[in-house]
Amino acid sequence: MTSRPKLVVFDMDGTLIRGRLIEVISRKYDLTKKVVAIQSDSSLQGYKKTKLIASLLRGIKANEIVKAVDSIPVMKNADKIVTWFKENGYRTGIITDSYTIAAEVIANKLEIEFFAANELVVENEVLTGEIKMPLGWEKINCPCTISICKRFHLNQYSNKYGVNIEDTIAIGDTRGDICMLKQAGLGIAFMPKDKDIISQSKNIILNPDLNEIMNYM
Ligand SMILES: [Zn+2]
Repeated sequence: MTSRPKLVVFDMDGTLIRGRLIEVISRKYDLTKKVVAIQSDSSLQGYKKTKLIASLLRGIKANEIVKAVDSIPVMKNADKIVTWFKENGYRTGIITDSYTIAAEVIANKLEIEFFAANELVVENEVLTGEIKMPLGWEKINCPCTISICKRFHLNQYSNKYGVNIEDTIAIGDTRGDICMLKQAGLGIAFMPKDKDIISQSKNIILNPDLNEIMNYM
């Protein structure tokens, strides 16, 4: 092994955990129809969808978001692969368009070093419906226009940790991950959920087992 610093970043929903947090919350609070209507509105840019969905969460206790994400099982061998990366000199992180209070739960559970996500505004332990989005695409002209440009944040963390971009690995499952997967030294589509990520990925894992990443190492 070389001693050069390395970095691996994971998407959260559908990648590190076996489900999507917003779907669990939507079912619990009877928001599914409204959320799906926002998600499927192709006239809206991604970050605007995130903002509208957050507004639906107004009045929900922040602790309910924590409980909901905690109820979603982690992906098979998530702990094993994170441990392997750490033992082999990788910084480990989550870059997700979910929420910081949820990403923190998963980062703690899997002992992942850092996370980047959207911040739900909380007052008196209750969600206000507002959200602080990291964005980043507007700074690098990334076409993703989602609430957190994963390419921008991959670049930020590789700079922060002094990692050459060719020594980075990114793993994700939807079109929002494409800009990050293309930027990373190794990009892997894990259980891809839409045709865009499938058509734009060279490396695809179709078995719900994160240990399959070892086939690329
Ligand atoms: Zn992007």
